[in-house]
Amino acid sequence: MRPHEAFIAELNKQITNNSHQKAAQLLQHFDSRRLKALSYFQNLELAKQRAAYIRWKVTESLDKYLVDFEASVLRKGGKVVWAYDAANALQELDQIILRTKSKKIVKSKTSLASEIGLMAHLKGNKDLVVNETDVGDFLIELTKESPFHPVLPAANLKYGEINKKLNTAIRSSLEADNQELMSDLREETRRNYLEADLGITGANFLIADAGMVAISENEGNARLCYTFAKTHVVLASIDKIIPSISDLELFFSLLSTHASGQQLSAFNTIVGPATREELDGPQEFIVILIDNGRSSVMASQDQRQALSCIGCGACHNVCPVFTASGGTALYQGAKSGPIGQVLNPLQSDLEAYKHLSNASTLCGRCTDVCPVKIDLHNHLARNRHDIVSQGLEKTGEKFGWYTWKKFMLNRKNMNRPAGIKGFTLKQFYKSEWGEQREFPKLAEKTFNQLWREAQGEV
Ligand code: SF4
Repeated sequence: MRPHEAFIAELNKQITNNSHQKAAQLLQHFDSRRLKALSYFQNLELAKQRAAYIRWKVTESLDKYLVDFEASVLRKGGKVVWAYDAANALQELDQIILRTKSKKIVKSKTSLASEIGLMAHLKGNKDLVVNETDVGDFLIELTKESPFHPVLPAANLKYGEINKKLNTAIRSSLEADNQELMSDLREETRRNYLEADLGITGANFLIADAGMVAISENEGNARLCYTFAKTHVVLASIDKIIPSISDLELFFSLLSTHASGQQLSAFNTIVGPATREELDGPQEFIVILIDNGRSSVMASQDQRQALSCIGCGACHNVCPVFTASGGTALYQGAKSGPIGQVLNPLQSDLEAYKHLSNASTLCGRCTDVCPVKIDLHNHLARNRHDIVSQGLEKTGEKFGWYTWKKFMLNRKNMNRPAGIKGFTLKQFYKSEWGEQREFPKLAEKTFNQLWREAQGEV
């Protein structure tokens, strides 16, 4: 199936999925929480402007900041490994696992895991025991679903379904209530932390001047992933850099308020290589810096601002397309929602994934809510412009629009009976309209007729 066909098939599946639709209502609730949390800022606009400026400054000199970050990590005794793409990142990770003789691995939430196919790769190695410690991601793994939302991955799962899966996976009681389920899960996961040789985490931010990474979370599992393990591996994409540790005050609060409506997430950790005085914690700190197509976005001066994303997910919650469909699988790439529609075609293949940039109403709500002021709807429009200017539309599409223009500019055609025009329209949109949408009925009277009637000519 081609990416475009897979997109339509997934959309048709999700739009009729009741649990997806219910979970989509939860997004409204999250958006109201974001709105309430904005009152924590004395001057929200100024905070957003500052954040946008810092992220712009970093993106414009990313090469410098990445080298600064590497130098700071090395100076402190850690390591930085550069990975060009997903395969390269997994190869580097395999070498680290082999060298450190790690057998038990714990992992916390990172969007890069699904981007590079981390869990499938690690689980394919029969010598390893790999445990997911993020509750949402663990449930997703059990149900073999794709995450529903970047911040709420398992929001679409039903309670009974979760209960059954946990009953098989960790022998939690089928009658267990929420609290018991959480307690069973906690007990299971705690053992894994204690026995782990290697802990894998993501990073919300890479701090260039400190050579450390910042992690913001609500479960506390990320910090436990590296507390007991001998080796801490951080998987981070090259666009996560911020210049200084003093910028965290701004970014942590913008992230928490926009992601979950909290003034600050429950656990905010800044971690780096251990100093000589630190007797516990991991002996090795390694950051795998992953490009995976981000340099291609960097190459476009007009579009590179989209790399400023801090992954709060706020744009998902207000997007009419995401809230109607939901589910990250629809977006066929590293990111989902409006930001995924901008970045995924640029990161992988503009021609193959051009349908993502077209599947938007361009209403601009995503741009309004973005804490780092990414001009999302205009980036989508620019993608569309690039598709046309690079001649990447299908021949059928070009012919379709040519015919449409001819038809619309001809008064005789416009005055044809509604039935004929409706039939022509249906032919035009045949493959794109989808099964769930009702085709609009055309007005029985044409504008010409209405005008004449208004003027008393008939
Ligand atoms: S584009 Fe903006 S609103 Fe959307 S996830 Fe990224 S930072 Fe958040």
